[in-house]
Amino acid sequence: MERYVLALDQGTTSSRAIFFDRSGGIHGTAQLEFKQYYPHDGWVEHDPMEILMSQKLAITAAMESGGIAAAQIAAIGITNQRETTVVWEKATGKPVYNAIVWQCRRTSEICEKLIADGLSDHVAEHTGLLIDAYFSATKIKWILDNVEGARERAERGELLFGTIDTWLIWWLTGGKVHATDYSNASRTMLFDIDRLCWDEKIMKALGIPACMLPEARPSSGDFGVVAPGISGLEALAGIPISGVAGDQQAALFGQACFSKGQAKNTYGTGCFLMMNTGESSMRSRNGLVSTIAWGLDGKVEYALEGSVFNAGSVIKWLRDGLGLIKSAPEVNILAESVPDAGGVLLVPAFTGLGAPYWDMYARGTMVGITRGTTAAHIARAVLDSIAYQVTDLISAMEDDVGFRLSELRVDGGASVSNKLMQIQADMLGVAINRPEVVETTALGAAYLAGLAVGFWSGLDDIENNRKVERVFRPEIDAHERGRRYAEWQRAVERSRSWAN
Ligand code: ADP
Repeated sequence: MERYVLALDQGTTSSRAIFFDRSGGIHGTAQLEFKQYYPHDGWVEHDPMEILMSQKLAITAAMESGGIAAAQIAAIGITNQRETTVVWEKATGKPVYNAIVWQCRRTSEICEKLIADGLSDHVAEHTGLLIDAYFSATKIKWILDNVEGARERAERGELLFGTIDTWLIWWLTGGKVHATDYSNASRTMLFDIDRLCWDEKIMKALGIPACMLPEARPSSGDFGVVAPGISGLEALAGIPISGVAGDQQAALFGQACFSKGQAKNTYGTGCFLMMNTGESSMRSRNGLVSTIAWGLDGKVEYALEGSVFNAGSVIKWLRDGLGLIKSAPEVNILAESVPDAGGVLLVPAFTGLGAPYWDMYARGTMVGITRGTTAAHIARAVLDSIAYQVTDLISAMEDDVGFRLSELRVDGGASVSNKLMQIQADMLGVAINRPEVVETTALGAAYLAGLAVGFWSGLDDIENNRKVERVFRPEIDAHERGRRYAEWQRAVERSRSWAN
């Protein structure tokens, strides 16, 4: 009887369940979308019960699609949208408020106050993060401040906080385990990433009682077992939950970036770049955040992280905003119809610029347009802009770590574009390595879970599983690369400090 590891990939718009075999191959998968709530401008919520239901249904649907029985499941791994915050009643499991999603900006003012109170240095030094509404800490404070009686109840030990991993673990174990892993904890802006404990000073500044926080554990190890009598999942009772990581960290693991200096980039709506920085945490001089990659085998490894706000979304803008293409893949055909962008540069600073510029007043700009500019040049400029922004982040990371990247491993929806990957190799001057299995996030969670129960014997075993689908090598020389990058930087200058 073949055995499998079940990965739960609880994302921002859908809950997925995927079964992996020993070679990392996929058997049986299912995906269920759930509702997004936008109660006010800039606010984003999910219903935690809908998340739980959709995740449970995805499990049973994936079992059906793969013809897999509960007895064949060796372990469960969880990966999740990070930072999204749930507070619930310990006695009943009932949320006291909707989940506040990572994208939600409602706590910007709380963040401004923390900055004005002089907490920035403490937060950067201890959590590795910048003070921002994105992270969980101020979202917890918002719930405690705005739900009647919540702070008093939390102080009496009646309420629990968790990110989505914790929420799922708590429910799957029948309320027995209230835990998170180090990678998820490191995204709360409450966790000391060096001492591996919750930070008293930040908790105090936000009025968050320690008793509501989960226990932070290594990412591969014991998170309890599925409890008997979980409705819809009765057959799964006793299966261990043994791997947990936030989505980006799980992808880094799924890409087998186990050594210091290895990096992956996910090309989705935005881009998420992460580099393994080894066993000591570092602080960026270039506006990147420092985070825990995972805890495994008695060790904790760290990563530098940077993101591009607009990547795949620029292709969608070409389709929906400009109407120059009918579907995303068409961008490649159009872009390949010209040798280059004909001198056109697009800076897609639609929502400002992130690392290393951090200019929220920057706005989108297109420069170098002449009478000869065509839709094809603009399509090519779109692909260029994605690659240039990733190059900006890699340069910042290289400057922080003091060495050059040797290769970039890629995944995400837009990584299927051969043209984009070739442009990226040219701009970075390093090989781009695209794996056969691009479900790296779910795979990473499965690996963390499977390692803990001996399904895989060690990191070598996993590295051997990683099959390269294609490698893209640079086809331009350093001089040409430098010329193009200088041009990009000139274009970025034109986009800056535009809105006010
Ligand atoms: P997310 O998880 O952020 O929703 P995905 O990883 O699913 O994103 O990637 C979706 C993005 O990939 C879209 O923004 C789309 O523009 C882009 N995309 C999809 N197919 C292609 C393609 N063939 N070539 C280039 N980009 C593509």
